[in-house]
Amino acid sequence: MNILILGSGGREHTFAYKISQSNKCSKLYVAPGNAGTAQIAENLQLNPIDFAAVANTAIEKDIDMIVVGPEDPLVKGIVDFFAKDERLKDIQIIGPSSRGALLEGSKERAKEFMAMHKIPTAAYESFSFESLDAGKNFLETLKPPYVLKADGLAAGKGVLIIDDLDEAKKELENMLSGKFGAASEKVVIEEFLDGIELSVFVLTDGKNYKILPTAKDYKRIGEGDTGLNTGGMGAVSPVPFADDTLMQKIEDRIVKPTVNGLQEEEIDYKGFVFIGLIKVNNEPYVIEYNVRMGDPETEVVLPRIKTDLVELLEKTWSGELDKIDLEIDERSATTVMLVSGGYPESYQKGKEISGLDQIEDSIVFHAGTRNEEGKILTSGGRVIALTSFGEDYKQALKKSYQSAGMLQFDKMYFRKDIGFDLT
Ligand code: ATP
Repeated sequence: MNILILGSGGREHTFAYKISQSNKCSKLYVAPGNAGTAQIAENLQLNPIDFAAVANTAIEKDIDMIVVGPEDPLVKGIVDFFAKDERLKDIQIIGPSSRGALLEGSKERAKEFMAMHKIPTAAYESFSFESLDAGKNFLETLKPPYVLKADGLAAGKGVLIIDDLDEAKKELENMLSGKFGAASEKVVIEEFLDGIELSVFVLTDGKNYKILPTAKDYKRIGEGDTGLNTGGMGAVSPVPFADDTLMQKIEDRIVKPTVNGLQEEEIDYKGFVFIGLIKVNNEPYVIEYNVRMGDPETEVVLPRIKTDLVELLEKTWSGELDKIDLEIDERSATTVMLVSGGYPESYQKGKEISGLDQIEDSIVFHAGTRNEEGKILTSGGRVIALTSFGEDYKQALKKSYQSAGMLQFDKMYFRKDIGFDLT
């Protein structure tokens, strides 16, 4: 099969790494990719949200399967675009239709879906500029801290958690007045849930599902989960506290009703569901849905899947996920993200990365890198993810950190406390 992966980060390099191991893959492309994907696939200069260009390339390169990495093309309707074109409709495109992608594209829609299908989540109400006063009154009925969420996609910055009531009211007004552009024309205000977070990943063909390994990511730039939010500084899989009892609750109360809900609402969904959860007194609640894999969670989840990934994706497309067994590596996997100094605020690019060929105990996934005349240079905030295996997460982390010590670039930074809250 000829396979095209859309995206350019560590997540996409990990997909490329797994897919290139499959006998079913004859030719692999990544668009636009990075210096890591270029080592195992052919990079194409394509913008994933330019659907006409993606379609032309798919026809020209005789592509059989497309894996969509990021959410943007999904929310903008790439799956629908392919479905309605005779020449493209048989290409196995992995991801939900735009109606399915709204679970990530609109927080109000996600909350309505959860309410409709009785999926446990924080109590909420949704407001627009016209109902600003009602929103302020609603805030008065809640206990601090106050959780304000822009309805639409805001690059991970659209959620504010505020301790002070007056400040929360002011921020509500700012958001509804356009703080995040169209994304905050509506704002969801919800009850604060106090607990520990984890993520569960599901692959569904729209009626059957497979629960993939769990993961926990570390979003803040600073140790002890302090400072600004980032795309993610590291991840651990499996999550040690996700025991059988908790996983059974998650499957019964969240995964099954989610997949059944998609089916009841006749939503075409062949792809990954990333369920962000919070455990409060041993009970799971949904914080958010994402309609694609997470980054850096992919870097620890996919390497633990022993089943041929292309076969899994084929069965996803054909609606036969019940006909394939999922085999998982029992070992733990961890990833540590090396980032450019200054990230997530301003940082410099173009720094040469040295030591890459010395890494033996970790898998090197490139995130923001490019190749210039044989030199690997930094080209983004998040640069390299180092994934390692171990009998438990501590052993795995030790290897990721040893590998981190062997790499260098100017102003390289990484968190040294990934997994700190798991003991
Ligand atoms: P992401 O960047 O993960 O895609 P997002 O912008 O889509 O995030 P959410 O995941 O809904 O937004 O929220 C971001 C973070 O805010 C969560 O990971 C969680 O830490 C915190 N959070 C969100 N909702 C709640 C809540 N009801 N109670 C407590 N914390 C919450």
